Amino acid sequence: MTALIIDGKQLAQKLRAEWKLRADRLNAAGIAPGLAVLMVGDDPASKIYVRNKIRACREIGIRSEEHALAADSTLAGVLALIDRLNADAGIHGILVQLPLPAQLASAAVIERISPDKDVDGLHVRNLGSLLSGRPCFVPCTPAGIMEMLKTTGLELRGLDAVVVGRSNIVGKPVALLLLQAGATVTLCHSQTKDLAHHTRRADVLVAAVGKANAIGGEMVKPGAVVIDVGINRSAEGKLVGDVDYAAARERAAWITPVPGGVGPMTIAMLLANAILSAERHARGQGILFNA
Ligand code: NDP
Repeated sequence: MTALIIDGKQLAQKLRAEWKLRADRLNAAGIAPGLAVLMVGDDPASKIYVRNKIRACREIGIRSEEHALAADSTLAGVLALIDRLNADAGIHGILVQLPLPAQLASAAVIERISPDKDVDGLHVRNLGSLLSGRPCFVPCTPAGIMEMLKTTGLELRGLDAVVVGRSNIVGKPVALLLLQAGATVTLCHSQTKDLAHHTRRADVLVAAVGKANAIGGEMVKPGAVVIDVGINRSAEGKLVGDVDYAAARERAAWITPVPGGVGPMTIAMLLANAILSAERHARGQGILFNA
């Protein structure tokens, strides 16, 4: 079997065209959706991510502003900026590019963002809403993964899903979303005994580890859907995921490539959350009716 490719780039383009119509409608109603992106320090990978997010905003009619802070910024300084953005009615979404330099506790920074503007969905209130099954802003990568799974047409109810990685950004929220979709979910991590025992049972396998080849082809169940979240550099400097793509493709029924898989979907879902936030703001002003 050679797996079909779930093309994240193409799907993101399609969704972005839909989000653009919603952004156009907001702009026409006098509400310019606004996103503030905070970056502290000059991590080269973060710079690329921020640039891509800002470009994507511009393409669909979201006004974005970048706040680039020095690597030695104090927590008080970062929190003061977040307070200002929380109070700015023209800003509907605030995103803090992670990771932050060591002197800044990310939890303290994220908790300072107004949950109503937390378009990354990482504030405890939004994570709590997700846990209770009433999500408000769903973290972007997990939301993108669920959109990708939809394109397979598979009924997730009753399937065995295995998520490898338990971060707050990817692993835990995607496990919750799969659970809410009716899958039986196993969440694996670095302490898991015999990882392959779990992955080989997975009808849906999500790899969010951050290590090239963490998932070998023999660890994939024939006919599975494989979602590769990892972004790693190979010894040759190539961008690769966590899954041995060539080998897994011969066993899986569907697979996401790296690059061009989950990455573009993460950005698309950020745009969706920013628009959702602006629509809520508009409704609060009595300007927009149903979105
Ligand atoms: P974290 O480092 O926060 O989490 C990695 C997880 O993998 C941890 O839970 C860790 O376990 C687990 N792990 C590490 N080694 C093993 C192992 N040998 N076997 C099983 N589990 C293991 O990473 P993130 O969740 O933030 O990101 C994961 C990857 O996804 C990274 O490559 C990141 O760059 C990428 N990413 C991609 C995005 C995209 O848009 N495509 C978005 C976000 C992330 P433990 O908890 O026990 O330490």
